[in-house]
Amino acid sequence: MMADTKINYIGLEEKYGAHNYHPLPVVLERGEGVFVYDTDGKRYFDFLSAYSAVNQGHCHPRIIQSLIDQAQKLTLTSRAFHNNLLGQYEEYITKLFGYDKVLPMNTGVEGVETALKLCRRWAYDVKGLTPNEAKIIVCDGNFHGRTSTVISFSSDPDSKKGFGPYMPGFINIPYNDLVALENALLDSTVAGFLAEPIQGEAGVVVPDEGYLTKAKKLCAAKNVLFIADEIQSGLARCGKMLACDYENVHPDILILGKALSGGTLPVSAVLCNDEIMLTIKPGEHGSTYGGNPLACAVTMTALDVLQDEKLSENSFYLGNILREELNKLNKNLVTTVRGKGLFNAIVIKPHNGKDAWDFCIEMMKNGLLAKPTHGDIIRFAPPLVITEEQLMECVEIIKRTAEEF
Ligand code: PLP
Repeated sequence: MMADTKINYIGLEEKYGAHNYHPLPVVLERGEGVFVYDTDGKRYFDFLSAYSAVNQGHCHPRIIQSLIDQAQKLTLTSRAFHNNLLGQYEEYITKLFGYDKVLPMNTGVEGVETALKLCRRWAYDVKGLTPNEAKIIVCDGNFHGRTSTVISFSSDPDSKKGFGPYMPGFINIPYNDLVALENALLDSTVAGFLAEPIQGEAGVVVPDEGYLTKAKKLCAAKNVLFIADEIQSGLARCGKMLACDYENVHPDILILGKALSGGTLPVSAVLCNDEIMLTIKPGEHGSTYGGNPLACAVTMTALDVLQDEKLSENSFYLGNILREELNKLNKNLVTTVRGKGLFNAIVIKPHNGKDAWDFCIEMMKNGLLAKPTHGDIIRFAPPLVITEEQLMECVEIIKRTAEEF
């Protein structure tokens, strides 16, 4: 392709790529910290952070250096052999989150699949359920990824419709409903309860204070595993290292992904104690790339950055300011503001035939990128390295867009 020809990037994707996404019409080619730049050099504030995978900011220098250094030494051995970084990484992450063991995978949904398998295996080997009988309670409005098993318990028709037959063994209950959980737990074949401590794709739905604590307690009373999917809510996004930390709840199984690698490569992790993890034996689960040395090196640096740069604290502090400012917007347009830390969403009431998508298009023109979810909701989740001054600049863009709307 000729360098000086204006390439029709969007047309190429349309013609040669699957139509499984509906992106905003912007073509990005560079990122740095809170900013991304399009092919014309126009600068935008990124208010999505790749669905919270770039909490540390785009192309964080320390993370990129770690990627380069390790890429020049050793990238992949598979788990057929040991590598010199896996054990070091495993010690680091298990000590950081307080678990005996970690099982490394790649994408988020693989982490979820791993947790489901661990839960079922534990149910048969430790809890003593009859094989193939175990059930896992899940919440309506969940988003845990898009494999056949995971969409089997999705309540979003877009994710699920037309992909049957579905995997059995799941009980759906309303989110943030302890009575429903208590009732579902009456079924003696229940092995686990899987939930997002804050539902991300549903539109940053924050449960009532005490929900996580009580849910964990109810599960413990029935010898049922409390499984937290913190793939989006965790890693400083919500103003604490984990959303569960707000209630000092320690999940039996913790699933992490996205920002584990600061946006450089797919890295996910499932953490739990020996009683659960050691039920899986050699050959019974795995992944060619899981635990590769490149991922191990990058993830240790990405986790260092979260802590060294106090990104949880920044997220907590600036999140309060952001919500305070967003609450000043016209209530006839922005009907709801919710979130924790820099994990936020607004609900837009359609205006003059225009909706949340149109609002995002206008914000894009004004230099800020965000994406609607479920029609009328817009998530606001900038990289956590954002400064107060930059955040106020973003607030001005959002205010201006709302006034023009
Ligand atoms: N779980 C949660 C809570 C998520 O938000 C996501 C992705 O958005 C996933 C799982 C799936 O992650 P991945 O897209 O990396 O498979």
